[in-house]
This record gives sequence, C-alpha cells and structure tokens, in this order.
Amino acid sequence: MSYKDTKMYSILSNKCPHCHEGNFFEDNNPYKLKTFAHMNNRCPVCNEDFKRETGFYFGATYVSYALTVAFGVGLYILLSVIGNMDTVPFLITFSILLIILLPVFYRLARLTWINMFVGYKKTNKAN
Ligand SMILES: [Zn+2]
Repeated sequence: MSYKDTKMYSILSNKCPHCHEGNFFEDNNPYKLKTFAHMNNRCPVCNEDFKRETGFYFGATYVSYALTVAFGVGLYILLSVIGNMDTVPFLITFSILLIILLPVFYRLARLTWINMFVGYKKTNKAN
C-alpha cells in the first residue's frame, strides 16, 4: 500500500475520498481567501457526491474542535513547557495562529469528516 492509497493522502492533498484523484475543494490553495471554502459538488473524476445530505458537514465541527485542541496542547507544550513562555503571550500567539490557520483547519476538518464515511476504491479512471 503506497501513501497515495491512504486516507492521509486524501486529507492532506485535497483529494476525493473515494478515488483519490479528483479535487475535493475547487482550488488546492487554502489561502485564496475568496474561494477557500468552495467545494466541488461532485468529484470531477469519479462523480462521488461531496455534498451528501443537508447538514452533513455539521459533524466536521467536532473534527475542527479536536484539531484545535490538539494543536493548542502541542503548542502549549512547545512554547510554555519547553520554551517557558508566560500564559498571556502564549494565548495571544495561539489566537493569532488559529486565525492564520483557519482555512487549513476548515479544510482538514471537512476532508477528515468525509473520509470517515467514504472508503477508498482504486479505480482505473472510469468508474
Ligand atoms: Zn473521486
């Protein structure tokens, strides 16, 4: 099994969870702020339905929360425990980084969420 066959590949490379070929978000760059949240309705390669049912992505907020907590704990250990940073500067740094990383977390949360429900199926382009 190569890296391209893993869910990690789909999540980190903005790929369809079903075929790992088509883009999930329209543009690969999360920092094109006007379009960072624009998803394709369907996979351009295998036609997998990305929108699914109404409210499907509500669950992605839990993933987003988990990512934020994990990031916060990691940053805290790095800056405060190892780096001896005080609480207030730490919280300011954490807040700024969260804002900067928002488009990335938003995408990781949605891609992780849909990958929990859609399995990978290797295709020969046509499906
Ligand atoms: Zn696909």
